[in-house]
Amino acid sequence: MAVPKRRHSKSRTAKRKANWLNIPKPNIMECPQCHEPKMSHRVCPSCGFYKNREVIEVE
Ligand SMILES: [Zn+2]
Repeated sequence: MAVPKRRHSKSRTAKRKANWLNIPKPNIMECPQCHEPKMSHRVCPSCGFYKNREVIEVE
């Protein structure tokens, strides 16, 4: 197997890892139907509404 010719410097590795901080936090929005926090672009888990209509049945 090929082996890297030069290893990355500590600072280069640290700079890459610094970007992990601002990666994927899921976008939490307030549901317009029941005002519960929900992930945007997802069906609301508490009322089952998406785009002002019921998409899934929720107990
Ligand atoms: Zn809802």
